[in-house]
Amino acid sequence: MTIPTKVTAAKKDQNLPKIEVPKLPSVTDVKNAIPEHCFEKNALTSIRYLIQDYLILAGLYLALPTIEAHLGLLGLIAWYWAMGIVGSALFVVGHDAGHGSFSDHEWLNDLCGHLAHAPILAPFWPWQKSHRQHHQYTSHLTKDKGHPWVTEDDFNNRTVVEKYFSMIPLSGWLRWNPIYTVVGLPDGSHFWPWSKLFETTEDRVKCVVSGLACAFCAYVAFVISGYSVWNWVKYYYVPLLFQGLILVIITYLQHQNEEIEVYEQDEWNFVRGQTQTIDRKWGFGLDTIMHNITDGHVAHHFFFTRIPHYHLLEATPAIKKALEPLKGTQYRYKNETNYDWFFKYLNYNLKLDYLTHKAKGVLQYRVGVEANKSK
Ligand SMILES: [Zn+2]
Ligand SMILES: [Zn+2]
Repeated sequence: MTIPTKVTAAKKDQNLPKIEVPKLPSVTDVKNAIPEHCFEKNALTSIRYLIQDYLILAGLYLALPTIEAHLGLLGLIAWYWAMGIVGSALFVVGHDAGHGSFSDHEWLNDLCGHLAHAPILAPFWPWQKSHRQHHQYTSHLTKDKGHPWVTEDDFNNRTVVEKYFSMIPLSGWLRWNPIYTVVGLPDGSHFWPWSKLFETTEDRVKCVVSGLACAFCAYVAFVISGYSVWNWVKYYYVPLLFQGLILVIITYLQHQNEEIEVYEQDEWNFVRGQTQTIDRKWGFGLDTIMHNITDGHVAHHFFFTRIPHYHLLEATPAIKKALEPLKGTQYRYKNETNYDWFFKYLNYNLKLDYLTHKAKGVLQYRVGVEANKSK
């Protein structure tokens, strides 16, 4: 039954006007605007950040008995949020390793990537693969990975649970682990070697190795928990669910708002896709703790293999300048300050249900298209 729906959508699309795209800068134009030293990777600096995040996590664990003794459940919940933030910082260090911006040595990137990601149960190599496709095809309707772009037809063909799951606030804690990485919705399981994410034997072997690294860390945590499932869940897995939540919020807010555009194959190109990324400042020092993955994401998207996290903020004004001629258009540099990041995320999950065509090959969230029409 899906075929007639798709044909109807395609016909609808053919009648739509084509958007005239202003001249966009090339990647080289943007690169030339950025100071040369921003592209320098320093293995020692990257390792320093890895150790720093381990130490902060260790500090949080050391402080936990005191926090629980004096502040009880409220203290424990605050501790979970802190673990989520610092766990995400550790994820960002491994994220650089996955992109090769950690150092110039692949073996060191792979080693430190696993050291950063396995303790937080993120399978390094499989995630590296799916995440790369998110960067190579940002805002491409079908090829972008990480967050599924939902069209009106997709939405209508969904079950009630699929339609409204993301609107339930609690879903945020589960979307990364277990839904995305273990169950494999929508890109395929990152733990199962024969999932649709993998095509080659090398991919599958890497999946097993990264999965075993995670299993080893989970087992060590179980031993440290005194072989108590309750303690393991309370002090290891639940903090990881908070880390997953923070990661989901970061990723979601970087690529969603009422006005961002998503492109079909004929309209998509790399620069056009990247300009739909949004830098968001979370405030309260969180951007610094999380290595500017929040407020330096546009720079990261343009040069994901080249600029390490500690140079993102320096590269950002240059990118802003390179996109300056596009001011007033959909392709301008986009940034926001969102101290209300958690509520913004919840609100968007209620509001941004599906994408609809605004022009030939160009989609936008329904609420955005409707707001433009009523202007
Ligand atoms: Zn992104
Ligand atoms: Zn990335």
